[in-house]
Amino acid sequence: MNIAKQIQIINNELPADVRLVAVSKLHPAEALMEAYDAGQRIFGESKVQELTAKYDALPKDIEWHFIGHLQTNKIKYITPFVSLIHSIDSVNLLQEVDKYAGKAGRKIDVLLQIHIAKEETKYGFSEKECCDFLKSEEYKTLNNINIRGLMGMATFTEDINVIRSEFKGLSSFFHQLKQHFFSSDDNFNELSMGMSEDYHIAVEEGSTLVRVGSKIFGERQY
Ligand SMILES: *Cc1c(COP(=O)(O)O)cnc(C)c1O
Repeated sequence: MNIAKQIQIINNELPADVRLVAVSKLHPAEALMEAYDAGQRIFGESKVQELTAKYDALPKDIEWHFIGHLQTNKIKYITPFVSLIHSIDSVNLLQEVDKYAGKAGRKIDVLLQIHIAKEETKYGFSEKECCDFLKSEEYKTLNNINIRGLMGMATFTEDINVIRSEFKGLSSFFHQLKQHFFSSDDNFNELSMGMSEDYHIAVEEGSTLVRVGSKIFGERQY
């Protein structure tokens, strides 16, 4: 892979208001540096240990996004520096992030992950759980987090109609929430959807953050 060239290709396709998150999980620091030298500043990682190691090794003006399932016992390792957590998938996790953000003296930006795929295995809130939470007293007590928007992953399928309808549904839910719960909050403005195989569709359906890995860095070695 010519990492710099891939980044340029993708950026040329993205509208000006859509940002590229380079998903660098399982790729070595040298690969991230190639992307960095090509101007990339937002990187997405899905394992805490890998993220902290890369944070230590790489330039400090990188914006680190956490995109994987986050275990509560590991939150404290990333709260001092993480820029955005895309994958808040339960109320308990959000409460814990709020607690550790407070300890780190920070207010941390997060997205609520909504379950939109057909697979049972993908994490996330249902629409109802999400609304119930936003109405709750519990939510009002969380002072160290900013809910910036939503994240979702489409079903793993070749059927672009399924993918498009899932992204459309998420986008419409995002606008409903904005109207009902965030009408006076201009910061509720991020919709994280789209990966290497489906980011074109996601952008057409209103994505503001695309999370692209293999199209930049090549296949991952597990
Ligand atoms: C790995 C991963 C991606 C990137 O996937 P690619 O298909 O390599 O672009 C995006 N989002 C999440 C949550 C991931 O775990």
